[in-house]
Amino acid sequence: MKKVGFIGLGNMGLPMSTGLINAGYHVVGYDLNEEAARSFKKAGGEIAASIAQVAEKSELILTSLPSVKAVEEVFLGEEGLVNNVKPEQPLIDTSTVSPDLNVVIAKVCRENSLDFLAAPVSGGVIGAVNQTLTVMVGGPKQLYEQVLPVFQVLGENIFHVDEQIDSGTTVKLINNLLIGFYTAGVSEALQLANKKKLDLDELFSMLNVSYGQSRIYERNYNSFIAKENYNPGFSLKLLRKDLEFAMELADENQLDLPISKSLLALYRTVEREGYGDQDMAVLYEQVKKQSNK
Ligand code: NAD
Repeated sequence: MKKVGFIGLGNMGLPMSTGLINAGYHVVGYDLNEEAARSFKKAGGEIAASIAQVAEKSELILTSLPSVKAVEEVFLGEEGLVNNVKPEQPLIDTSTVSPDLNVVIAKVCRENSLDFLAAPVSGGVIGAVNQTLTVMVGGPKQLYEQVLPVFQVLGENIFHVDEQIDSGTTVKLINNLLIGFYTAGVSEALQLANKKKLDLDELFSMLNVSYGQSRIYERNYNSFIAKENYNPGFSLKLLRKDLEFAMELADENQLDLPISKSLLALYRTVEREGYGDQDMAVLYEQVKKQSNK
């Protein structure tokens, strides 16, 4: 399969589709945002004017979309994928959405004899640019094996979690719950260092070789906090969305996770205060403002 469609050319979709172009795929892209579409064209992609046009020109279609609403619209909307693709064109959603939505889309696809995989990714924009993402795939193993070469362009660690369509999403939500904790932990712990006037670079070099080390501390500190620049990245509102899904999953499974619940409340508050579009590492700045008694 050398002709790939890509819908959603944002922070993740643009570098992911660019990776495919660089690997020799012909990529037909679609995004509601004209600037995203322009950047994709500059990277060597072919812009389509509609989802129907993507379907017309592709053998397989990937999506990377920001919300349940966008994924519903792109897959199930009147002008959407289900109404436009043929059975031999597999659909792969790399967005992080609710497990329930994975199940609904898989059901509609089955009813229309279409192939579908839910394949959320981890590794951020840097991972997408460097083609080192981790891909967590739920859905039929045979289909996974058929499209594996495409996943291998996007990432380095590709996992078929289970035949269950939402299994990759479950792994991804556990991952992002941990990201939420680490980001909050770094934000608060560094305030002690600020108060005691420690050099944050030196602190990082010491903790990076101690048990306080984490990939999120490394990423949040080096790429955002040290630069005092929080351009996304992984926007705080997207992390909040994933924490909501993780809490829904806990509720549906009669699981009480009080610490996670208070974590979600924290991110909701910070988003309401206007930090939602910046990288999640911006939590550090908000905690800094509020932690001085
Ligand atoms: P983004 O907001 O930067 O990009 C989403 C793109 O989808 C935008 O360009 C938007 O215009 C487009 N879009 C929205 N609705 C559309 C529609 N109906 N039709 C066509 N295009 C539409 O988001 P992102 O950071 O690229 O994240 C995309 C997905 O990947 C999310 O589900 C996110 O949770 C997940 N994710 C993000 C990261 C990250 O670090 N940013 C990492 C892993 C997973």
